[in-house]
Amino acid sequence: MPNHEDFNLLIVDDNEMNRDVLRRHLVRQGYQQILAAENGKEALEMLSGHNFDLILLDIQMPQMNGYELLAYLKADLKLSHIPVIMISAVDEIDSVVRCIEMGAEDYLHKPFNRVLLKARTSACLEKKRLRDQEEIYRQQLEEANKKLAEVNQQLEQLSKLDGLTGIANRRYFDDAIAKAWSIAVAEKQTIALIIFDIDFFKQFNDAYGHQAGDECLKQVARVAQRTIKRPHDVVARYGGEEFVVILPNTPLSGAEKLARELRQDVENLQINHAYSAASMYVTISLGVTAVLAGGDRGYSEIIANADKALFLAKQQGKNQVQVWHDGLSAGLIT
Ligand SMILES: [Mg+2]
Repeated sequence: MPNHEDFNLLIVDDNEMNRDVLRRHLVRQGYQQILAAENGKEALEMLSGHNFDLILLDIQMPQMNGYELLAYLKADLKLSHIPVIMISAVDEIDSVVRCIEMGAEDYLHKPFNRVLLKARTSACLEKKRLRDQEEIYRQQLEEANKKLAEVNQQLEQLSKLDGLTGIANRRYFDDAIAKAWSIAVAEKQTIALIIFDIDFFKQFNDAYGHQAGDECLKQVARVAQRTIKRPHDVVARYGGEEFVVILPNTPLSGAEKLARELRQDVENLQINHAYSAASMYVTISLGVTAVLAGGDRGYSEIIANADKALFLAKQQGKNQVQVWHDGLSAGLIT
């Protein structure tokens, strides 16, 4: 428990003798920081410059009386938390009730009973101290919760990112495709998908080492993110050297155009690959598909179809775009 001298007390009384008597009582109880005001106006001036822990307020004062000052204090957000003990020369039940109803903490009447004064003053201050402490804990808790939420958000973010390339990972893709699909169904939109992978990547790794392989993956991911740039498009690492792109509300022609740009952009990186049969540089093969969402279809169908198109691109010599649309890529089936 803090020492008495830590508390700041304010006496408000128009009578000088009363102020002195009260001050002496309080000093004897160990309080050291006591200010006194002789009217409401002076009290308000002091209150604007100091933090008080308790106000001892006389009711009978000229001009602004104790009730008026109390009403003012309780209406002021910056002052309403300071406990007020009302002091009166009369001990009338009506007056006590009125003060308590207005928000006073307690009531004392003159002449002071020293024991009562001591008990009520220290009870008020102790309650105030606990309330202040509670407020500090509440703020600390709020602060801690905010930090925790931030950390959780970062963790959530990290769990959805591919550690090597920094783009979305497979897990993110799984959520994103389900979400994009349900939106496309609701909006009766066409959704397109591109799956692509790096040609002769095993040979690249074997020849240039895994560090160079990682660097190659990073560069391809970066280029893909640069090329696919609408806010709702998703570029994700699907696994190994395989990537996937979700293109919501995109017709097949648009998706195919993007796929061709992407193929060109990757080749333009001019990452030497002496062991590729497709080019002297690192290249990618891409499978593209698009479907009007809805009906009996699920999104697993567009993934499977994009995969079939990619397989076709590989089969036909790599470093190219192949498109799958229902019935038209039948060549693959034979
Ligand atoms: Mg008076």
